[in-house]
Amino acid sequence: MAKVIDGKAIAAKIRTEISAGVQELKQKGITPGLAVVLVGEDPASRVYVSMKEKACHEAGIFSDEYKLSADTSEADLLALVDKLNNDPKIHGILVQLPLPPQIDTEKVLEAISPLKDADGFHPYNVGRLSVGKPLFQPCTPYGVMIMLQEEGVDLNGKEVVVIGRSNIVGKPVAMMCLAQNATVTVCHSRTRDLADVVRRADVVIAAVGRPEMVKGDWIKEGAVVIDVGVNRVGEKKLVGDVDYAAASERASAITPVPGGVGPMTITMLLYNTLESARRTA
Ligand code: NDP
Repeated sequence: MAKVIDGKAIAAKIRTEISAGVQELKQKGITPGLAVVLVGEDPASRVYVSMKEKACHEAGIFSDEYKLSADTSEADLLALVDKLNNDPKIHGILVQLPLPPQIDTEKVLEAISPLKDADGFHPYNVGRLSVGKPLFQPCTPYGVMIMLQEEGVDLNGKEVVVIGRSNIVGKPVAMMCLAQNATVTVCHSRTRDLADVVRRADVVIAAVGRPEMVKGDWIKEGAVVIDVGVNRVGEKKLVGDVDYAAASERASAITPVPGGVGPMTITMLLYNTLESARRTA
């Protein structure tokens, strides 16, 4: 049976380190600050934003929240981003996605200063990652890399198969694995013989958004499986992109859903904010 990679425990360890880092900076007169901007009433976004606020509070990070109405204009949002870009108390800015249709998301993400881009979505930071000189790294893939590191998984020369090529998970995690000398294959909806590609992998990273799509017999004996997917089935149950029970029979280590990658995302947001504040110091 596979070892269960405990995301909650790894996140708790990293958060303790972050809290210590925050205290150290505070002694030098700097309080790391994160601005979180929410536009509209999307229930999932509201939950994420309140989780982020709570996490900041627990880590001693100053959090500044802006809850704007769903009919906010693009110009007003851009003006707020500009104000936050110039606010010395703020070291990280996060605009919660999705934005309402009257607002051009790309325009807003590009208006955030690359030096305060806590989500790492600005093309400048995407470019820095792809040339191997990262500044801000996107939180979920960054969390995946920390989990692998904490589990002692050395990617050097390994076959990594990433399923999914989104800008927020698949592509950046592939870049990060490449930077650690893995041989990386990125799969997507047009990939032929996906099962056969996945069977080659020493490490499988699934970020698709399809419940239990990755079957147990796709997993090579002893592979490490990281399941980024979060899929709601029925009223309450959450499952990943991997058939956990079957994959556990073959993998050497696997992340559960929930309790795997999920807790790492906000942790890395706190980490990015702390690192940004350290840079200004
Ligand atoms: P996207 O919908 O943006 O991307 C999904 C990717 O999966 C696309 O590249 C798509 O291919 C690919 N795909 C879809 N169907 C198939 C298929 N049948 N075979 C192979 N590839 C396929 O999703 P995200 O990257 O935003 O998120 C992925 C999952 O991760 C979701 O479940 C999401 O909820 C979860 N997530 C979890 C987070 C966490 O904190 N734990 C954070 C972010 C996401 P194509 O490009 O060809 O369309």
